Amino acid sequence: MELYVHFPFCAQKCRYCDFASYPGQAHLMEPYADTLLREASFFAQEVQSPISTVYFGGGTPSLLPVPTLTRLIQGLKEILPLGEVQEWTVEANPGTLTLPWLEAARQGGVNRLSLGMQAAQPRLLSLLGRIHSFQQVQSSVDLARKAGFENLNLDLIFGLPTQTKAEWQETLEAAFSLDIQHLSAYGLIPEPGTPLLDDLDAGKLALPAVEEEREMYDMLLQFTAKQGLEQYEISNFARPGYACQHNIGYWRQAPYLGLGVSAASMLLRTGSAPGMTYLRRTNTRSLQDYLSGMQNHAPDPQEEELISPADARFETMMLGLRMNAGVSEEGFARLHGISLDSCYGDRLRQLQSRGLVYQKDHAWRLTRQGMDLQNMVLVDLMDD
Ligand code: SF4
Repeated sequence: MELYVHFPFCAQKCRYCDFASYPGQAHLMEPYADTLLREASFFAQEVQSPISTVYFGGGTPSLLPVPTLTRLIQGLKEILPLGEVQEWTVEANPGTLTLPWLEAARQGGVNRLSLGMQAAQPRLLSLLGRIHSFQQVQSSVDLARKAGFENLNLDLIFGLPTQTKAEWQETLEAAFSLDIQHLSAYGLIPEPGTPLLDDLDAGKLALPAVEEEREMYDMLLQFTAKQGLEQYEISNFARPGYACQHNIGYWRQAPYLGLGVSAASMLLRTGSAPGMTYLRRTNTRSLQDYLSGMQNHAPDPQEEELISPADARFETMMLGLRMNAGVSEEGFARLHGISLDSCYGDRLRQLQSRGLVYQKDHAWRLTRQGMDLQNMVLVDLMDD
C-alpha cells in the first residue's frame, strides 16, 4: 500500500498550472494539517498492509512551517502503519527551502526530495510564472545535501513556447551539473483555464512544432543515457537503484490512499466477477469544502467510481506501457487471473506489425515510435 498526501498551498500560481494549488492561503495550513490527520484516522481501516512509500505532493509542501510539518509526520505515524516505509518523497520549490525545514523532514523519515526546476533560463522561468531562479535551485540542492538528502529529483518541462533546442540543452546541462539521482521531464501540455493557454489561444505565444518537440525528447533520451541515467518510464530517468518506487507502484496498480484536497485513492474491493476490482475515490478540489466537509463527518468524495475488472485490465496496459519494462505476462495474470494473450494478444500483434510495440522477456513494451504515438496505441487496445 502507498500513501499520497496533497498540500494545496503555493506562494504564487504558475502560469501553466492546473493542479489544486492556491496562493494566499497560508493561514489555513494549521487547520489543514489537523484535517489531514482526521482524514487519515477515518481511512486507517482501509490500510490492510504496511505502507511502503509516502509522497507529499502539491502544491508546495515545503511551505509548511517546521512545527506543522513535524506534527503532521508524527501524527501520521501514530495513525497509519508507517514503520516499514522504504521511500518518503517530499516535493519542494526552490526559493522556499531552509536548512531547518530540510533537517526536520529528514528527521521525520523523508529520504527523497523532488525539486521543481523546470528550466534554467530566467526568461523561460518568468514565462512559466515560476518564483525562483536557477541559482535558487543550486542553493536548494546544496542545502538538501547538507541536511543529508542523497536522493534528489529535478522536474523539467520542455516544448515551452519560444524555447529553443539550445536552451533545452543548456537546461539539461544545468540540471546535471547538480549531480542528481533522478530526472522527470515532461513535454508541456497547455491546460484549459490557465493563463498560458489563454496566451497561446490569443496568438501571443506559440508552441514549438511537433517535430521540434520530438527532437527535444530525443535530446533528453541521449543526454540522460550519456549521464548514466536509465530511462524506466516515458518521462522518468534514474541512476541505478534510484527509480521512484512510489510512482512505479502507481504504474503497477498498487493500492494507495490519498489524503487532502484533490487527492485520489485506489482501494481494493472484492467484486462478484473474477479479477481485480477497485474503488477510485477523489477528494474535492475546493480547500474550503475539504476543510468544512471533514469537520464532523466522513469526507464527501468529489468522485467515486468502482473500476470493473475489464477497466482494471485496460489500466494495466495504459499504465504499464508507459514503463520501459512494459506489461509482463506474469504480472498481468497475477493481477487479473487471466492471461494477457487472451485479452490483448491479437491487438498487440497488430500493433507490433506497425512497429509500435515489441515483445521481450515475456513482456510487451512500446517502441520509440510507440512512445510518440502512445495515444494511438491505447485507442487500439480499448475494448470496442
Ligand atoms: S509550484 Fe507547482 S503546484 Fe504550485 S502553482 Fe506552480 S506548478 Fe502549480
